[in-house]
Amino acid sequence: MSEIRPLIAGNWKMNGGRREGLKQAGQMARQAARRKGAAAEILICPPAILVPVLRDALAAGAIAIGAQDCHAAAAGAHTGEQSAEMLADAGCSHVIVGHSERRADQGESDAAVRAKAEAAHRAGLTAIVCVGETRAERRRGQALDVVARQLSRSVPKGAAAANTVVAYEPVWAIGTGLVPTVDDVAEMHAMMRARLARRFRAEGRGMRLLYGGSVNAGNAAALLGVAHVNGALVGGASLTAKAFMPIVKAAG
Ligand code: PEP
Repeated sequence: MSEIRPLIAGNWKMNGGRREGLKQAGQMARQAARRKGAAAEILICPPAILVPVLRDALAAGAIAIGAQDCHAAAAGAHTGEQSAEMLADAGCSHVIVGHSERRADQGESDAAVRAKAEAAHRAGLTAIVCVGETRAERRRGQALDVVARQLSRSVPKGAAAANTVVAYEPVWAIGTGLVPTVDDVAEMHAMMRARLARRFRAEGRGMRLLYGGSVNAGNAAALLGVAHVNGALVGGASLTAKAFMPIVKAAG
């Protein structure tokens, strides 16, 4: 959907200390500030502990800051967790929920992901809801069914274009250097768009759909040129300004 403003989001995962984070955030901000009239919105999701450290540096380049996960509850006895309200209070505008690493490592179900997305909405954050099939599921021809199921179970009732982004991230493409064909991405994104439009009407037609999985400067333009791809969720290539900013540029 050409009228949807693209979003290029970086997921730093459990990488980047204070010093290196500040250096890279500063470089990204300086380069972003020079982009006059640029189309793409930029977001960096560092480890939660670095959010207060990097917030102002990124803001200097109008780069938004987000988190990689949140708890479903607003507060309480949940040792080691952060609520969506706390993330909003720290300056986050977005939170990733249901990343496949958390679905695999923490056993997060679609219901748990949906509860986290609802928590994000409650706190005024935009939820970036991740979905994606495994390599075995794609080989068995189940990719579309798996993603359709995740989509309907993980995206909550109150989802709208302003508070929800969906990221299609094939598990087998994350951190591997493998990417689906543009035809496969097009097929998946068309399916997601059709389902979201059916469920959420105009809001579903306006929701951003990101592609994620081994996006880099070399393949970004082709992936971002696919119909219904409204941006990218970038892992490894978001860790440095040198690798990340050409992807931002490819989005316009
Ligand atoms: C991710 O973890 O969301 C991701 C897309 O990682 P990478 O770009 O490194 O494949």
